[in-house]
Amino acid sequence: MVTQPRARYLDGPVAIIGAGIGGLTAALSLQHSGVPVRVFEQARALREIGAGVTITPNAMNVLDFLGIGPALAEQAGKTPRYFVRSAADGRELERGPDPCSRTTRSPSPSESSPTSTMT
Ligand SMILES: Cc1cc2nc3c(=O)[nH]c(=O)nc-3n(C[C@H](O)[C@H](O)[C@H](O)COP(=O)(O)OP(=O)(O)OC[C@H]3O[C@@H](n4cnc5c(N)ncnc54)[C@H](O)[C@@H]3O)c2cc1C
Repeated sequence: MVTQPRARYLDGPVAIIGAGIGGLTAALSLQHSGVPVRVFEQARALREIGAGVTITPNAMNVLDFLGIGPALAEQAGKTPRYFVRSAADGRELERGPDPCSRTTRSPSPSESSPTSTMT
């Protein structure tokens, strides 16, 4: 069902359970449309838990639209090159960055060792 922003039957904020990237993006999206939100998170603190997350260009487009792209890019590391390999046989499935990548400078030699993602 598609609902309209500022729908009259919403008499309070929308409750969003979980402040992961999904919940926070949903919260920002609703706020962007003028819908008040309240986010509930069970964790005592939002903090790094040890795994990096690669944000793909299509996801960055959404975050740019929501106004947080520049702040995120400022905090993020850059991946000058990457390979995606099959976990089954190590076969290379993809390598990047692609020509549409947001990376605008050439990597220095010390940056050019590729990261590898197993799929
Ligand atoms: C090691 C690893 C590497 C990954 N790398 C990438 C990557 O490079 N790129 C990528 O796009 N994705 C990656 N992913 C996947 C990505 O992290 C997840 O798809 C994404 O974080 C899911 O977001 P989410 O908001 O749906 O859930 P979560 O991030 O799991 O957030 C859910 C939140 O809800 C809270 N919660 C749960 N139940 C309740 C409750 N009852 N009440 C209140 N709060 C609650 C939790 O505490 C949590 O904070 C990776 C995942 C892992 C594990």
